[in-house]
Amino acid sequence: MIRQAAREFAQNELKPGVIERDEYQKFPTEQVKKLAELGFMGMMVDPKYNGSGLDSISYVLVMEELSKIDASTSVVVSVNNSLVCYGLEKYGTEAQKEKYLKPLASGEKLGAFCLSEPEAGSDATSQSTTAKDMGDHYLLNGVKNWITNGNSASVYLVIARTDLERGHRGTNALILERGMEGFTIGNKENKLGIRGSDTHSLMFTDVKVPKENRIGEEGFGFSFAMKTLEGGRIGIAAQALGIASGAYELALQYSKERKAFGKQIADHQAIQFKLADIATEIEAARLLCFKAAWLKDQGLPYAKASSMAKLYASQVAMKTTVEAVQIHGGYGYVKEYHVERLMRDAKITQIYEGTSEIQKIVISRQVLK
Ligand SMILES: Cc1cc2nc3c(=O)[nH]c(=O)nc-3n(C[C@H](O)[C@H](O)[C@H](O)COP(=O)(O)OP(=O)(O)OC[C@H]3O[C@@H](n4cnc5c(N)ncnc54)[C@H](O)[C@@H]3O)c2cc1C
Repeated sequence: MIRQAAREFAQNELKPGVIERDEYQKFPTEQVKKLAELGFMGMMVDPKYNGSGLDSISYVLVMEELSKIDASTSVVVSVNNSLVCYGLEKYGTEAQKEKYLKPLASGEKLGAFCLSEPEAGSDATSQSTTAKDMGDHYLLNGVKNWITNGNSASVYLVIARTDLERGHRGTNALILERGMEGFTIGNKENKLGIRGSDTHSLMFTDVKVPKENRIGEEGFGFSFAMKTLEGGRIGIAAQALGIASGAYELALQYSKERKAFGKQIADHQAIQFKLADIATEIEAARLLCFKAAWLKDQGLPYAKASSMAKLYASQVAMKTTVEAVQIHGGYGYVKEYHVERLMRDAKITQIYEGTSEIQKIVISRQVLK
């Protein structure tokens, strides 16, 4: 039922206008409101905090269906659910959950997760943003880069260094509100793909953040970011899976319609073998996503599984979308047929929430333990 609801929503609400939102970089404001009504903005949050109380498997199903049509919208869903809501529910205080989690889980507000900086991407330990301890508050200074929902969010989880001597162990995770004095939002990035999503740099100049807005103990910030990203990667893996399966469905249908040399192109073995390969790889990616989600739902370790799912599903998304364009021939190269957008959108899944190289570092550390 959940898959069906997400599929119908994607077809009826996301598909119309998806090409225009991509072309003009329009944020899907109305679509996100409707996703909130369906309970998809706080899917795994306990109903007592306005969530839907669903499991991670359901989340994978929804992410796949939305991403088949519109990965710009699905990344909004992914960041709000698996980075912001998850982080607050798992590690926040009761007061933080009341004040921040409830409106985020209902979708009344949107959240952003702010770790990356101009000089700190894969190497997230070399943070330059500082949160100086001033007694009852922190004084925040620095710049964050590439922040999804940067100009649409109202609540920002920001990682910053307090104790410079202690390296990443001196880092805190702080909750910021839009409009705090000294907090400014930079220009929107003009991107290759997921162009409907809202990516900005953020600047902090002497922003006063109350002590009660720190998540977890003093010094927990880096661990908070890493633990939260472990779950976030399941969302991005499912996004990559959706981009791949969306492109595959379009290519399969097209191969039965297009004729060349007196027969459907699906009757040429070269096309059949492409379809066989991508169908197999998508199924494998889906099972890796389900495995990571299942482990998380069982309370078992899932860091290796979520990195494997993201690494593999993002490779499959790239390969499948390139093949889908090829199967469409010249028509694949123009916007009306959707596969060129899926090809551009696929690339980001190999970059954000840890590049493919970083996933290989995580996986190899685990297998070499
Ligand atoms: C559209 C978009 C949205 C984003 N959203 C967010 C967000 O909401 N919040 C947020 O905090 N960040 C966000 N990011 C940032 C994203 O997570 C980083 O871009 C990513 O982690 C890579 O960091 P970098 O860009 O600095 O690349 P770098 O770290 O400079 O990497 C450059 C290259 O070097 C490779 N490399 C680096 N270190 C190693 C190593 N040890 N071994 C092998 N290879 C290595 C990388 O894999 C990559 O190929 C977003 C980025 C984009 C483009």
